[in-house]
Amino acid sequence: MRILVLGGDGYLGWPTALYLSARGHEVGVCDNLVRRDYDKEMGVSSLVPIASIEDRVAAWGEQSGAKLATYVGDLTDAAFVHRMVREFEPDTIVHFAEQRSAPYSMIDQAHAVYTQTNNVVGNLNVLYAIGDINRDIHLVKLGTMGEYGYPNIDIEEGWIEITHNGRTDTMLYPKKPGSFYHLSKVHDSHNIEFACRTWDLRATDLNQGIVYGQQTEETDADPRLATRYDYDAVFGTVLNRFVIQAVLGHPLTVYGEGGQTRGFLNILDTIECIRIASENPANRGEFRVFNQFTESFSVLELAEAVKKAYPGEVTVEHTANPRVEAEQHYYNAKHTKLVDLGLQPHLLNETLIDSLFHVVEKHKGGVNLDAIRPTVQWRSTASELSSKK
Ligand code: NAD
Repeated sequence: MRILVLGGDGYLGWPTALYLSARGHEVGVCDNLVRRDYDKEMGVSSLVPIASIEDRVAAWGEQSGAKLATYVGDLTDAAFVHRMVREFEPDTIVHFAEQRSAPYSMIDQAHAVYTQTNNVVGNLNVLYAIGDINRDIHLVKLGTMGEYGYPNIDIEEGWIEITHNGRTDTMLYPKKPGSFYHLSKVHDSHNIEFACRTWDLRATDLNQGIVYGQQTEETDADPRLATRYDYDAVFGTVLNRFVIQAVLGHPLTVYGEGGQTRGFLNILDTIECIRIASENPANRGEFRVFNQFTESFSVLELAEAVKKAYPGEVTVEHTANPRVEAEQHYYNAKHTKLVDLGLQPHLLNETLIDSLFHVVEKHKGGVNLDAIRPTVQWRSTASELSSKK
């Protein structure tokens, strides 16, 4: 298949592009490289050094003999998206290319507006390009389990049958997300469902859990193929952050009680889920939703798992929760559709955590300790206008 990976320079997009290429697909990568700019803005960088997009693509050419078509450009530029889709002629578009940090979206008004504009407009431009150029293209879109929030009922995979006043219909599962970032994903989901219904497009929305891990067979083949590994409170995902904190001798920063339960998955399962979704496309007109995670844990359980696995001293610190969220709640989310299509999950174990300790040991020199504690407060509404009358 011809697969275009949007956000192909990111933490997940890069290893996914390599994985699909290694399995014989013709792969193109698109990115506007803005993730590298957020690093500069936040005063941090990936713990594991990453090569430039040109060097990565060249290294993969040497390693595999495969050439990745590369498009450096911004999805909010509609003309660029149209040109790229016409030129590459994809069968599948895998769309990772969004601002993906909840804390980043909650910094202030400008960051909230940027996040929603970047994500919603970029996704709309992709939908229009598919609608105009070839409606057979399968859109595989990265959403998040955070779209659902944490309702006191079971979470279904995208759709729920509701009986109300004696009448029954199948509706999109109601959403109650917890940040302006997560809300941007809800808006995307609604736009995609509408496009499938109205233009007869085919799409798979992957409501992904929180990803951990850093190494895949392909990224391990050469240091220039490594993917990023974030430790800071804005972009680092929770297990990855706890591993780094343990190795640095920093207390593991659990927000509040730590009873917040979330779905998780190994990066090895992310790349395999994308392969499965791409190779088994949705039908024309179908808006298909998969919950893409393999296990759920509370934040405190993860901290305890890291503490148990680490050979040295580790302390767990309950810090004031910067977010507005329930710290104890019901959580039962379905996640069978990817397994039905053949996913064989890599479950969290001490060997994996141990391999991450080794990655961190090797690179821990460059950490900016000031970036570890959370600073973005959900309750604050800072904006450039707040100090003006
Ligand atoms: P990432 O920030 O590392 O990668 C996203 C990439 O998209 C970056 O390289 C960035 O430069 C690019 N990008 C952003 N806006 C763009 C635009 N307008 N035009 C072109 N490129 C643009 O993020 P990630 O962790 O790899 O996540 C990828 C996707 O998966 C995101 O959509 C995210 O919401 C979703 N997701 C991630 C996780 C996780 O744990 N990392 C969990 C659930 C869902």
